[in-house]
Amino acid sequence: MRKQTYEDISKEQVENWDKKYLWHPFTQMRDFAREEPLIIVDGKGVILRDINGKEYIDGISSMWCNIHGHRREEIDNAIKDQLDKVAHTTLLGMSNIPSVKLAKRLVEITPEGLNKVFYSDNGSNAIEIAIKMAFQYWQYKGYKEKINYATLQYGYHGDSLGAVGVSGIDIFHSVFKPLLLKSFIAPSPYCYRCPYGKDKTSCSLECLEKLEEVLSQNSDTLAAMVMEPLVQGAGGMIVHPDGYLSGVKDLCKRYNTLLIADEVLVGFGRTGKMFACEHEEVTPDILTVSKGLNGGYMPLAATLTTDEIYNAFLGKHSEQKTFFHGHTYTGNPLACAAALANINIFEKENVLGGLVPKIRGLQEKLEQLKQVKSVGDVRQCGLIAGVELVKNRETKEPYSWEEKTGIKVCLEARKRGLIIRPLNNVLVIMPPLSINISQLNNMMEIIYESLVCATG
Ligand SMILES: *Cc1c(COP(=O)(O)O)cnc(C)c1O
Repeated sequence: MRKQTYEDISKEQVENWDKKYLWHPFTQMRDFAREEPLIIVDGKGVILRDINGKEYIDGISSMWCNIHGHRREEIDNAIKDQLDKVAHTTLLGMSNIPSVKLAKRLVEITPEGLNKVFYSDNGSNAIEIAIKMAFQYWQYKGYKEKINYATLQYGYHGDSLGAVGVSGIDIFHSVFKPLLLKSFIAPSPYCYRCPYGKDKTSCSLECLEKLEEVLSQNSDTLAAMVMEPLVQGAGGMIVHPDGYLSGVKDLCKRYNTLLIADEVLVGFGRTGKMFACEHEEVTPDILTVSKGLNGGYMPLAATLTTDEIYNAFLGKHSEQKTFFHGHTYTGNPLACAAALANINIFEKENVLGGLVPKIRGLQEKLEQLKQVKSVGDVRQCGLIAGVELVKNRETKEPYSWEEKTGIKVCLEARKRGLIIRPLNNVLVIMPPLSINISQLNNMMEIIYESLVCATG
């Protein structure tokens, strides 16, 4: 039996203080205050346990970041060992051992040609850095006009203003419009709702053609194209058709625009390979990673780039050429130690090899979901899936925002012991890579039942 008190605070106090003092991100607090709160107390592997002792499968990897499960001994110990040495020292003009070792490992495991690592502490910052780096690079190269960005509709790159300026999800971003960078938004190859009403192959080609128009007409002023390779996450788990990413890379090269690949979500094995860019043998000019970087343990991000870009920043002291950016906790040793342990587990346990049957299992279970009439589309890339719910399958008419259909399905799932979170009408399925087949089947069974129960 679990005690009703947690350390020095009772269950009632936690619930009351939460409502009284906390403002939760991306949460309508009026609704939240009326609902039964879900308060997590501990976890192990893919299982989380709440304050009532009820257990759940962590079906969204604690917001897309957990990789090898919770309380992985190797990562726990790496942090504890580093804590016995020192918790934090700065990287401004000096260094520390875990951040050096991790930088070397990141250069080794990321696509060939990315040779320099710049740390920060979250995905939005990694993108901010990428944007500033691209801009400053062109300034130093004498292209003073290259100050704009190209991006994709439904793109998501974080919530700081620079990142919002290169994102394309109206519902999150339109309110901030007066504050943002200027960017050109190209259509997304969202084939289920192809902007040109085409099939998959033609959708991809048409979208690339449109992007070519954007890049060719603006190549004098474009610093970089920012995109999520293979899967646009927060925009609705939109899986791009094969060849789209390499098509974008070719166009960027042709029109003298840097490619910033945001692998904050898709990096670290989620797509079946370590990095999404590997699927199409693309080396971007700048790569960002964060969520899975240290297995979902603590805030850490990195922006990697090429020698070409790095070298443009070198110069005599008198030239005042410096990358003017840095955060207090840049390269935090505890976070870097955790990241090293995270990467070691990939190798030690051949995690990527072990994903093959899980990805196939997920595919089979997703196929079965199509029997439910509210399921309009299922999309999968590796161990990431999105299930788009529609009111009418023939016309693809979406459920209205007010119907809260995605939320209702997820609340049913929660009753049955699964934590998932929707993106409006898209159910997101993204368990830790360490989930086993029987847990995976169980998770998909719960989703099936919850769909039937909430959408009939
Ligand atoms: C989550 C996310 C970000 C932002 O990361 P934060 O750590 O939440 O700031 C950026 N890009 C992508 C693709 C993401 O999924």
